[in-house]
Amino acid sequence: MTYGPVPGVPTGARFRTRRALYDRRVHHDIRQIICGGPDPAVGAESVLVPAGRPDDHDLGGILYLTGSGNTRAGRVVSDQVLTGLNRILADNIDSGQPVRLIRETAGEFAYDGLFLVEDAYLRSGVDGHAICQFRLRQMRPVAAPDRSVPPAQAQRALATHYRLVRDPAVPARVKALYDHRCQICGIRIQTLAGAYSEGAHLVPLGGGTDGPDTDANVLCLCPNHHVMLDHGALAITDEWLVIDRDGQTIGDLTLHPDHQLDPACARRHRQLLGFPHSPPELGLSG
Ligand SMILES: [Zn+2]
Repeated sequence: MTYGPVPGVPTGARFRTRRALYDRRVHHDIRQIICGGPDPAVGAESVLVPAGRPDDHDLGGILYLTGSGNTRAGRVVSDQVLTGLNRILADNIDSGQPVRLIRETAGEFAYDGLFLVEDAYLRSGVDGHAICQFRLRQMRPVAAPDRSVPPAQAQRALATHYRLVRDPAVPARVKALYDHRCQICGIRIQTLAGAYSEGAHLVPLGGGTDGPDTDANVLCLCPNHHVMLDHGALAITDEWLVIDRDGQTIGDLTLHPDHQLDPACARRHRQLLGFPHSPPELGLSG
């Protein structure tokens, strides 16, 4: 049992069978989709994503993974609970230990690198039972240290938290436009270190979605509304209304005249997070 990359197994490596994954210690459990790590308190070491599970939502760089247990032929047959292997995977959130991710596709298995476990929660699955769901985010390769950057900032660049490894220029510009006021609720969080807000990408960067890292795709939000946007609790219409999961309008998005937000990004966000297709109030033509 070991955490992190397996020596000699590059990202993208393919395997024909689970036995081969087991033998190379990429996923050292022949039956379970979550492989517990050497230290249960630290969390799991690898996750295998089976093909075709209806509650999984794979966006490439972000993956909403259904938990382990109580399944038969890929369907959830009774309520999942956040215990056992699901609990162990949830422990990765607090420990920050990434998992190796293996996807099953077209009858083979691909090692897709390291993913951080960001969140775990219970929700209702398509089969009518509670499911454990996890939000995983692909770690980006850490570039060689830039000697021109002061040591304190270089240290931050090495951190694994996803919000720290992006180019900060775009969110910084958008945040400045709004003076750190949330575009949805208007709150401005004043901290000891100054005002705090988050640059929220409508379409995630990288992975299979490749959202643009430009002002057109970034909102200035408070942490709550950032989480709600990323989790599909709310979306933005082409007319800059904020809607909830049921498509009900819950407010107007504040939009600065100098902020060239692109409705296509809002549309793509709605599509990715499974908001209803082309309801009349969204004014979509296709
Ligand atoms: Zn807010």
